[in-house]
Amino acid sequence: MQIGLCSIGSVLLSLTMCFAPNRASAEDTGKCLYNDEHFHIQDFKADGPPITEILKMMEGRVCRTTLMALAITVAHDPLIDRDFAPIYYTQTDGQVAYYNAIQDVLVAHKFLALPEQDRARVDPLMSAFNLKDARAGEYIRKMVHLYPGVWSGFGEIHFKKQEFSEKIAGGPPSLYSPSIDAVFDVIGEMGAAAVVHCDHDTPYNLALLNDPAAQALFSQGRTPSPQYLEPFKAFLKRHPNVPMIWAHFMGNGRNVQPYPEHWKYLDEMLADSGFKHVSIDLSWGPVVAPYVIDTPEHLKMTADLIRKYPDRFIYGSDQGATADWNVVTKSYDVWEPLWKELGPDLTHHVLKDNYVRIFDQSKRNMRAWERAHPQKIE
Ligand SMILES: [Zn+2]
Repeated sequence: MQIGLCSIGSVLLSLTMCFAPNRASAEDTGKCLYNDEHFHIQDFKADGPPITEILKMMEGRVCRTTLMALAITVAHDPLIDRDFAPIYYTQTDGQVAYYNAIQDVLVAHKFLALPEQDRARVDPLMSAFNLKDARAGEYIRKMVHLYPGVWSGFGEIHFKKQEFSEKIAGGPPSLYSPSIDAVFDVIGEMGAAAVVHCDHDTPYNLALLNDPAAQALFSQGRTPSPQYLEPFKAFLKRHPNVPMIWAHFMGNGRNVQPYPEHWKYLDEMLADSGFKHVSIDLSWGPVVAPYVIDTPEHLKMTADLIRKYPDRFIYGSDQGATADWNVVTKSYDVWEPLWKELGPDLTHHVLKDNYVRIFDQSKRNMRAWERAHPQKIE
């Protein structure tokens, strides 16, 4: 279906019905390698390089990119870490991560500082709202009213993440709380895309498979299964108006690795029409690729899924707060065997087309929502 068939008024329509024609976008004609669906411009201290340096780094390499902050900021709690001020969530065991609106304000500020022609190359996403606050939808509405014409969607929104969600002040987001639905009802009302991170499992749970004694003790003989897979799928299913991009090849991360059945779980979800609004990202390659294309068998299973669902996979770097191409390109290079296996057309689809389709539609929907809900903050 072509874009023209998707009227602006159809915000609440299932958005995955709307497809952009192949290779239609202007930015696609250049020599750039990919669109980046998963790029953080700030770190856990809300610092990052000037946006102009990021645009310079993109020249001839990255066609378009999302501009994401990090939803949370890591505090320095001297009672836990004395004089050591952690800059990454793995460096402390304090409950020091907190939602910090300055992360979103900085994203909007940096976007607005760009000249008009550069703004077309970037898609700012909002993220710094508290998933445990059923009123967080009000934060979202205020931010959209405060910076109209800025946001292209939402992300990266963290639900479960190893060594991270449990450090959020006030405790980890719950997959069973009505608050997550209240927040995503607002995002769905806007018809905006959301990049979501939810580990499919707790760290090291899978390792019990290789330890019969531990398995007998902790799993009472039952085979371990991914703890968060089903509750997160239930959440996704409840929000069909939000085009969701489930990060890291469906929730992998450090010490959260795919089960042997991961590809089967993925196939089942993508085949189910209740999840037609869900896409999968290939971001955080240096951490994820070593488990999903590490053997000829895994490489083939991954490529076969992309062949079967070419519109559902999307590339992202998950690089953060850097304008150094030598660093950023590592996320792309690590998938080289996959690009080779897929061939140029499918690779193009994953690297470029799916981004344009999802984020152009999301941006149009957010502009339509703004027009339908005019409100000036004064
Ligand atoms: Zn992530």
